[in-house]
Amino acid sequence: MAVSRRNVLIGAGVTAGVVAAGGSAALLSDGTPKDPASLLRIGSLPADDASPGWFHTSRVRQPKAPLIGDEQAPWVVVGAGFTGLAAARQLALNFPNDKVILVEAQQVGFGTSGRNAGFLIDVPHDIGAPDYIGDQANARNVLALNQRGQGILRDLVEQHNIVDAQLRHSGKYQAAVEDKGIAVLNAYRGGLEKLGQPCHLIEGSELRDHLGTSFYRKALYTPNTILVQPSALVKGLADSLPENVKLYEDTPITAVDYGVKTVLHHATGRITADKLILANNAFGSYFGFLQGRMLPIFTYGSLTRPLTAAEQASIGGKDFWGVIPADPFGTTLRRTHDNRILVRNSFSFNPDGRAKQNYPEKVRPAHRLSFERRFPELANVPFEHTWGGGLAMTRNGAGFFGELRENVYGALGCNGLGTVRGTATGTLLANLLAGKRENLTDYLLAAPKPSWNPPQPMLSIGVNFTLRTGQAKAGIEA
Ligand SMILES: Cc1cc2nc3c(=O)[nH]c(=O)nc-3n(C[C@H](O)[C@H](O)[C@H](O)COP(=O)(O)OP(=O)(O)OC[C@H]3O[C@@H](n4cnc5c(N)ncnc54)[C@H](O)[C@@H]3O)c2cc1C
Repeated sequence: MAVSRRNVLIGAGVTAGVVAAGGSAALLSDGTPKDPASLLRIGSLPADDASPGWFHTSRVRQPKAPLIGDEQAPWVVVGAGFTGLAAARQLALNFPNDKVILVEAQQVGFGTSGRNAGFLIDVPHDIGAPDYIGDQANARNVLALNQRGQGILRDLVEQHNIVDAQLRHSGKYQAAVEDKGIAVLNAYRGGLEKLGQPCHLIEGSELRDHLGTSFYRKALYTPNTILVQPSALVKGLADSLPENVKLYEDTPITAVDYGVKTVLHHATGRITADKLILANNAFGSYFGFLQGRMLPIFTYGSLTRPLTAAEQASIGGKDFWGVIPADPFGTTLRRTHDNRILVRNSFSFNPDGRAKQNYPEKVRPAHRLSFERRFPELANVPFEHTWGGGLAMTRNGAGFFGELRENVYGALGCNGLGTVRGTATGTLLANLLAGKRENLTDYLLAAPKPSWNPPQPMLSIGVNFTLRTGQAKAGIEA
């Protein structure tokens, strides 16, 4: 094990921005001189809050031990969310004789991939287009990409018997209360029909019979969305990786040195990679790529305790469903396999991608209000967990897929729907690296890249204004 003075310095140096190390970092652990300018310190490391409901209510899993000391491999993947798990698995299958290292700063299932609302959505939804579908050719590719991600996850759940992922083909209800929301549903229905995708409107008492709430006036039901317990799913994916994947958890990469081989630094040593795959979403920008192009925006979820039999009877409805809002700033709602209600709304801009102190407490009253509006008869049912998670948004809604520099590749920028998209892009990237190209690969390689953000402080002022006004305009849909 080689713990150099330089490593220790790097470990302590996680402050703002990506900076080139200098001064005392000029020697390697073996004493040889090194160009200090080539070392990038990772200016921000993941730090999620302690209360992700899906993580704490799913199987307690023994995490893989952190890496102690040095390692090397032909393939190293950073980030074990949906994207990194898919990339590492597919690399291992494509190169069965190669070691694949997958390195994760936190525990699998604790980060954003285990904090989301658990919708594996197939159909595209382009909020910038009048019919929410926009360009048909692009929409067909998005649909194919999402279906690919769904198919991969469904097959893995079946193959590895990940029953606690609670994967169910429930469809989704996109629901509205106000006229403007209902106009969105009607327009989107037209767009989906043009795309040949099944959907139908449900309203009034029929909708109440599905959801157990008379809050919504109308919903557009699309049958091919899958719902999951996201943290249980990613835990199961991590525990079923091929044998040639070596997973290290609780191992944040704190600095990187790009050379013929890439050297990744962590608290107690280094990982040398022939080829590096970045699957760490907004944190990819701290590795020196897509800087000034990511918008780490947090959104928040709360989960009630399980409803009693009497409480379930008091609301009625189906026993498992998922609602997304017609207004993008509205509320996502789920009734889970264990009879809890999930509420997701509220946003904050966290430029460093890390959780903001006390935000779960700050957003909980908004969740409470949304919950009680929908289920006044459950006003006494408390939330057990409230948490936040980071979305890697970009101004133009584009992600990154492909080569970042020689021997460094990325699938980054989930734009809020990374469960299926990340699974598909991680898999396709691993295939591309094995020389396997297909139509979707070409689509991703040719797609627009994330656009530039304005500089700070304009950026924060602009994003915070957009989030505040968006949430205010959502009104009762929130
Ligand atoms: C509340 C909420 C609800 C959502 N609902 C949905 C939904 O219903 N459906 C949907 O599709 N999407 C949803 N999303 C978005 C979805 O969770 C993300 O798109 C998805 O998690 C992206 O997966 P990923 O693997 O690309 O990135 P992540 O899940 O962010 O994984 C990246 C990993 O990289 C690790 N990492 C970062 N930096 C380092 C480093 N220096 N060293 C080592 N590891 C590092 C992080 O710890 C993290 O685990 C939601 C998100 C939130 C927060």
